[in-house]
Amino acid sequence: MRVLVVEDEPNLSRQLRRNLEQAGYAVDHAPDGEEGLFLGETESYDAVVLDLGLPEIDGLEVLRRWRSAGRRMPVLVLTARDSWSDKVTGLDAGADDYLAKPFETEELVARLRALIRRASGNASAQLVAGDVTLDTRTGRVTRGGEPVKLTAQEYKLLSYLMHHKGKVVSRTELIEHIYDQDFDRDSNTIEVFITRIRKKLGADLITTIRGLGYSLDG
Ligand code: CA
Repeated sequence: MRVLVVEDEPNLSRQLRRNLEQAGYAVDHAPDGEEGLFLGETESYDAVVLDLGLPEIDGLEVLRRWRSAGRRMPVLVLTARDSWSDKVTGLDAGADDYLAKPFETEELVARLRALIRRASGNASAQLVAGDVTLDTRTGRVTRGGEPVKLTAQEYKLLSYLMHHKGKVVSRTELIEHIYDQDFDRDSNTIEVFITRIRKKLGADLITTIRGLGYSLDG
């Protein structure tokens, strides 16, 4: 899962990036509204954290432009403390959730997780496929009740497929959703990750659909 953080405050940006990466997300950061607008229009994100008070183009305008361009990714807006009018305007402009500054990073991560889950149609924080479970709250994966250790990239890939269970996911889509923009993307590594995941979690968990991509069933 890949997340965009649009925030101009350097310390908060660093902290959010660190926490979101620890939670298993690929993270891109934009320090102003112009770059944020561009990334949100051109890249694929599973969720966005959008500060409203931004240089260049303010957050509300960024959000309005994304929505009128048909960009539908879940957006959580960060508002100034106690500004109820910001919250109302934000929600009206197409925000899915909001958080007032200052906030606990754990709460932001939890809300984002819920937004991503709902956007992919999953009601529970625990995703299940056959005897494999992935707990999006803890990042733990089990097979037949036994914990299985995955690398960060294997986890990102598995998490994306588990969130989209039963759908065919192309290699391009996987690349767009498990790497941040600075990552040296190589589509051959996807095949390597899939092979490793099959070794750890069972050969029949992920099906290769020739010429189309991969599908996780169960
Ligand atoms: Ca700001």
